[in-house]
Amino acid sequence: MKTMPTTEETQARLAEIPNLTVFNHAPLSRYTRFGIGGPADLYAETGSAEAFITALGVARASGIPTMVIGGGTNLIVSDSGYRGIVLRYRGDRLLAANGRVSADAGASLQDLVDFAIARGLKGVETLSGIPGSVGAAIYGNAGAYGHSISERVLKVRFFDGASLRIFDHEECQFQYRESIFKERKDWMILSVELRLDPADAVALRSAADEILKVRNEKFPVTMKCAGSIFKNLLLRELPAGVAAQVPAAAVREGKVPAAWFLDQVGAKGMTRGEIHVAGYHANLIYNAGAGTAADLCALIAELKARVRERFGIDLEEEVQYVG
Ligand SMILES: Cc1cc2nc3c(=O)[nH]c(=O)nc-3n(C[C@H](O)[C@H](O)[C@H](O)COP(=O)(O)OP(=O)(O)OC[C@H]3O[C@@H](n4cnc5c(N)ncnc54)[C@H](O)[C@@H]3O)c2cc1C
Repeated sequence: MKTMPTTEETQARLAEIPNLTVFNHAPLSRYTRFGIGGPADLYAETGSAEAFITALGVARASGIPTMVIGGGTNLIVSDSGYRGIVLRYRGDRLLAANGRVSADAGASLQDLVDFAIARGLKGVETLSGIPGSVGAAIYGNAGAYGHSISERVLKVRFFDGASLRIFDHEECQFQYRESIFKERKDWMILSVELRLDPADAVALRSAADEILKVRNEKFPVTMKCAGSIFKNLLLRELPAGVAAQVPAAAVREGKVPAAWFLDQVGAKGMTRGEIHVAGYHANLIYNAGAGTAADLCALIAELKARVRERFGIDLEEEVQYVG
C-alpha cells in the first residue's frame, strides 16, 4: 500500500524547488497584521509563479492541508497555529497597455493603485489604503467608498490544482465581499487583468491622498487589526422589523454598517484580555499588545450574541479564520 509522505519528507521535496523559501514551525503571528497566531507546520513563499505552482503540486500530493495567504491583513489565526502548509505567492509584476493593467496576485494593492494613478488610469483609486495583496483583494472582492475591485476585473488567472485557468468577470461570481474563490479555497489566484479609464493623474492622486488621510486616522498604520471585523448588511435583506429600526442617515449605498448594530449593543470600548473594540468605531477590533486568538474569538462571539439577542440577526465575519 502506498503511504503518504510525512511532513518532513514534504519539507524536503519543497526545499528542492528552486526559488522557494521553506520554514518549518513558522510562527504565523509574524505574517498577520493582528500579530496573533501559532506556528504553521510548514511555511513556503516565492516570487516565482512556476515555483508556486510546483509547490502547490507537492503540497497536494502530500495530502497535507494547504492554504495560501497574502499580506495576512484579514486573518485570525488560532493560538495553536495551522497543522498544514501555508504558501505565499509574492510575484508582484504590474503591466499597463491600452487602458488595461495586469497585476500579479502577490503585488500589494496599494502598489497597483499607485501604478494606475501614475499612468493616468482611473478605476482603482478608491481602493487607496486597503492593505494586503491583489490576490486577496480578488478573493474577497475588496472595496471602499462605494466601489469594489470587481467593477474593473476583466480576467482572473488561477491554478485549480491540476491546470492553469482563466475566468472572465462573470465566472468570478463577484458579490459584496464575495467571489467564487471564497467557495473554492483550493483555487489559487495568480494574476488579474483590469480595465481602467483614462483620467487626469494629478486629480486621481489628490483624490487618493484625501482617502489615505482619512483612512490613516481611522486605522493607524501600526494598529494590529483586520479593518472591519464584520460585513455590512444589505438593507433589502434585513427582516422588515429590523430595517424599520435603522435610521435613514445610517444607510450608505443600500447597506447598513455592521457598526450601527454593534453601537446599539454597546460594543465600543469593550475589551477581553488585550483585545479591544475601538472606542471610536464599533466594528474595529485591535490587539493592544500580546492579545490571543482565544480572546479575539471570544469577543467576536460576544458581539455576535449581543446583536442576535437584540435584533435577531447574525452578523457575518469579513475576516477569515485559520486553524
Ligand atoms: C486597517 C485595515 C483596513 C482595511 N480596510 C478594508 C476596506 O476598506 N475594504 C476591504 O475590502 N478590506 C479591508 N481590509 C481587509 C483586508 O485588507 C482585505 O481583505 C485584503 O484584501 C486582504 O489582503 P491580504 O493580502 O492581507 O490577505 P490575507 O489576509 O493574507 O488573506 C485573506 C484571504 O485571501 C485568501 N488569499 C490570499 N491570497 C490568495 C490567492 N493568491 N489566491 C486565493 N486566495 C488568496 C487567503 O486564503 C485568505 O482566506 C482592511 C484591513 C485592515 C488591516
